[in-house]
Amino acid sequence: MRRRLAAGNWKMNGTAASLSEMDALIEAHLSPSVEILLCPPATLIAAMASRKGQHPLAVGGQDCHAAASGAHTGDLSAQQFKDAGATFVLVGHSERRTDHRETDDVVAGKARAAHAAGLVAVICLGETLAEREAGQTLDVVGRQLDNSVPDGATGLNTVVAYEPVWAIGTGLTPTSEQIGEVHEFMRSRLSARFGADGAYFRLLYGGSVKPSNATEIFAIPDVDGALVGGASLKAADFSPIVTALE
Ligand code: PGA
Repeated sequence: MRRRLAAGNWKMNGTAASLSEMDALIEAHLSPSVEILLCPPATLIAAMASRKGQHPLAVGGQDCHAAASGAHTGDLSAQQFKDAGATFVLVGHSERRTDHRETDDVVAGKARAAHAAGLVAVICLGETLAEREAGQTLDVVGRQLDNSVPDGATGLNTVVAYEPVWAIGTGLTPTSEQIGEVHEFMRSRLSARFGADGAYFRLLYGGSVKPSNATEIFAIPDVDGALVGGASLKAADFSPIVTALE
């Protein structure tokens, strides 16, 4: 009942030459049984969306402003991402929360803007190493989930990505038990708030997912896919992750 989702976050990497990686990914998955999403830098969204043609690969932004338009130099609205061909947008990535001091309130505002524009919001959250070591993981995840996911979220317009900060780009991953504990917790928290619809939210794991650990991670209950950074840049790395999800 939940379509599995393999999402790639290119972060601040990639130029027009990198579109060949999307071509190779499409070539390797001409009719994928799972949903594939690439979030390139904003400069490549329109090119990616037009170049993919009729292929079902989805294109997403990495962040959006909470306002629909206005005097916000350098920012982009959810509506503009939609106009460029995106159908998803990431919000609340830990690098945004850290580099731009985004709070849960700010993230919820961005998710609302995404919903208003008709985009699926991928809301990212996760604990730091200090928080995990202090035994606060579920407290932190619960607070971020409650406050970053806005009212009006549904299983159709919202995906939640659990990304422990200490696992992002480090090569470290939690154990399957640790991932399973958080995903089960998030599922029950969403169900308590959204009722039956809580079962429809897709829950992604993110943080050092690679071809060698994808199969084990995708076997964990309530893991509906992955948000992949470094290993999404090259089709040779991302394609086996997509295959592991299929
Ligand atoms: P990583 O990044 O796969 O390079 O650890 C994940 C993310 O930040 O979404």
